[in-house]
Amino acid sequence: MAIGHTAAVSLLGVVGSVVDVEADIAPGMPGITVVGMGDTAVAQARDRVRAAVLNSGFEWPQTRLTVSLAPAGVHKRGAGFDLAIAVALLAAADVVPARRAREAVLVGELGLDGSVRPVPGVLPCLLAAAASGRDSAIVAPDNLAEASLARGVEVRGVRSLADLVAHLKGEPGRLIEPGPGVSVVAGRGPDMAEVFGQGQARYALELAAAGGHHLAMIGPPGAGKTMLAARLPGLLPPLTEEESLEVTAIHSVAGVLDPRTPLKVDPPFVDPHHSASLVAMIGGGSGDIRPGSVSLAHRGCLFLDEAPEFRRSVLDALRQPMESGSVLVMRAKHMARFPARFQLVLAANPCPCAAARDVDCACPAGVRQRYLGRLSGPLMDRVDIRVDIPPVDLVALTGDAPPQESSEAIRQRVVQARERAAFRWRAFGYRCNAEAASADVRELWKSRGPRTSLLDHAVRVGSLTARGYDRVLRLALTAADLAERGRPAESDVARALALRCGEAA
Ligand SMILES: [Zn+2]
Repeated sequence: MAIGHTAAVSLLGVVGSVVDVEADIAPGMPGITVVGMGDTAVAQARDRVRAAVLNSGFEWPQTRLTVSLAPAGVHKRGAGFDLAIAVALLAAADVVPARRAREAVLVGELGLDGSVRPVPGVLPCLLAAAASGRDSAIVAPDNLAEASLARGVEVRGVRSLADLVAHLKGEPGRLIEPGPGVSVVAGRGPDMAEVFGQGQARYALELAAAGGHHLAMIGPPGAGKTMLAARLPGLLPPLTEEESLEVTAIHSVAGVLDPRTPLKVDPPFVDPHHSASLVAMIGGGSGDIRPGSVSLAHRGCLFLDEAPEFRRSVLDALRQPMESGSVLVMRAKHMARFPARFQLVLAANPCPCAAARDVDCACPAGVRQRYLGRLSGPLMDRVDIRVDIPPVDLVALTGDAPPQESSEAIRQRVVQARERAAFRWRAFGYRCNAEAASADVRELWKSRGPRTSLLDHAVRVGSLTARGYDRVLRLALTAADLAERGRPAESDVARALALRCGEAA
């Protein structure tokens, strides 16, 4: 008997691959088998597809049905295969013309009533379809705006299985055309003009933005640590088109996009609570593999307020993505790699009692030391800048202070400094100083850097580790970039060392 054929997309992490969906109707005992390594959701698709087909007014063949998802070696997950399975079956049953069923890639979940529902991860699905040369796709109406972000594929929406069948039989007007291109306005986040005083912290934030450096802020509650951190994304250059799609794809897989304005154009700001689990931070989950906070913050800022309160295992797990820019998430039988190139901003009170002024602190000295000690070691070694945030200056608050520079003005300097850095590292492909490998930084320093006697001394007396040494060099490069100096000066090294060791305030 007949074979129906169409296409869907399988996702692993944010990487999609086009899957052939075939259905065969053969004589035999009534029943349906889905082969090709589907997970539970794909197996459940059988029941949803059957109900949707019947409730859309079509007959369910009372014979032996076999659905194959190929290649078998590719893991299939999620409910997005429903639509393709239904159409392949209806093509095999001669309800829709077999030739038309092959035309488009189909991505959508079916409700029992035959309605087509959105699924997470539609953008990476469509990017995969485009990459494999497919030029037409059909998705749920609520996924249409997001799916249209993929270039090179004509995407249309469909409300129900009955509408799709009518369309495939040649009836016009049953699909939904995408609206006019998604209009995006780069967001106006909170502005640096609203931050009074905190000169040292302002400079630290600018330096972090210009070089892509991780930053730690230590200070009492109410000093403005959160306020400062929330303004870091506004100092970063806007995302490029490529970065924008990359960030949107991750948020799509996580299922956290706004269906009306899906495209993420601003660097994200992600601030998980200190009770966050390892899975919430790194990614994973019991069903689908979902990206964690480190990936949602990709190309943006990951802010950990009250950082010493986070679980040790959660803080330790940050080290690997901080080094590699991606994170490997493993689950029972499969694993996925998610991008995770974020800028880390840690904030901590000086001690657990969180007194507003040092004189009010009731903590024994040992407790104070141990509290920040929870952050020490390999994690803090990867944090280039440590700045003390003093309590808010009353003069600055009462309005006698001169008006503060806006985020826009600072961002212009940051963008220029980043251009200098990208030019410096053009042969290596690093986008900012923080990305440069230690060996490359040292090599560059040999020919272009000033003397480093300050640093050598710091290493000798043990106040600086070997990794810290390289990080000071990177930071000095950024200080020079911001000061529009082609080569770093000794003063840049001194400034970098002070910020590195938290002695700046
Ligand atoms: Zn205290």
